[in-house]
Amino acid sequence: MMPGVVSFDLDETLWDFAPMMDGSLAATVEAVARRRPELAGVTVEELHRVRGEVGAECEGTYEALRLESFRRVLAARGVDDPALPRWMVDTWMAARVDSVAVHADVEPALDELEARGYLLGAITNGNFPLDRLPLARRMAFVVHAEHAGGAKPGAEPFAMAMGLSGAHPSRWVHVGDSIESDVLGAQAFGLRAVWINRRGEPLPEGVTPEAELPSLQGLADVVDRLLGAA
Ligand SMILES: [Mg+2]
Repeated sequence: MMPGVVSFDLDETLWDFAPMMDGSLAATVEAVARRRPELAGVTVEELHRVRGEVGAECEGTYEALRLESFRRVLAARGVDDPALPRWMVDTWMAARVDSVAVHADVEPALDELEARGYLLGAITNGNFPLDRLPLARRMAFVVHAEHAGGAKPGAEPFAMAMGLSGAHPSRWVHVGDSIESDVLGAQAFGLRAVWINRRGEPLPEGVTPEAELPSLQGLADVVDRLLGAA
């Protein structure tokens, strides 16, 4: 029989998003100020604000939008250095890997699932460079929605994961924090959904994940139960 598949959302499921994002932007600001002292006054808040403006006005990948936002921040200070925005994007992406704090319950849960023979994968709407983290080696597939032609809760990223893994929906559990993207999206694709509720939010009315956990602790037993292995 095909091994069961367990797919994971990334942001807010394996780590907290805001500290990773703010930490990586702060590191980028520091690095660029060392290169161009006139940029010492740039703040993380400003980067968020300008990125928000760019997102409202432009279309593009997350990386393209970030590049444009850095370009605008530099232009506002009269810094004319065409290569610098790209350098900032590269610095920021590398800093994301340094800034991420993977929750302590993640590695043990992945160990346990692997030991029980499950195929593991990741499906994210974001652009975190997972391939630069050691835990990526455990993942049989990694789907970034912007390469799948659509984002969760739509079917596209799940369909791409299915193509990459050969998984059948009946032998597949998806794990994530977002009711909309992860629970409803996975269920609409015919998967079982485990809602990771790290902040103890109330379950919205009318939503029925197959299971709910406050962390990944105990996930392997839940997956066994959902896929009929225990
Ligand atoms: Mg998430």
